[in-house]
Amino acid sequence: MKSKKQNESRDALSGTSSRRNFLKQAGGMAAGVVAIPLWFASRQAQAHPAYGHTPKSALQYQDKPKGNQKCSNCSLYIPGPSADAKGHCKVVAGEVSPQGWCSAWAPKSS
Ligand code: SF4
Repeated sequence: MKSKKQNESRDALSGTSSRRNFLKQAGGMAAGVVAIPLWFASRQAQAHPAYGHTPKSALQYQDKPKGNQKCSNCSLYIPGPSADAKGHCKVVAGEVSPQGWCSAWAPKSS
């Protein structure tokens, strides 16, 4: 039976140890590379508490206005970063278009 020191010497001579260490480190880095997007995705999925959770299909959501009713003039709309960008809704889950509409539309008070 070889001692630990003998194994280390053998590994150092053969390069096994450095390969093994490299593989361990690469595995750790790969896990980190995978974990960060998963963490970010889970944070996105939790979303803002003001955002709605009702599926679009339950409220007949569509990406176009219904007459002059549209998300951008709905009191439940949470605008995106620009007037044309998608925003969110206090009722419907996910992003909604400023030009969208659903059956929960409610006029903004003026
Ligand atoms: S029209 Fe519907 S989807 Fe659009 S903001 Fe209003 S409630 Fe939300």
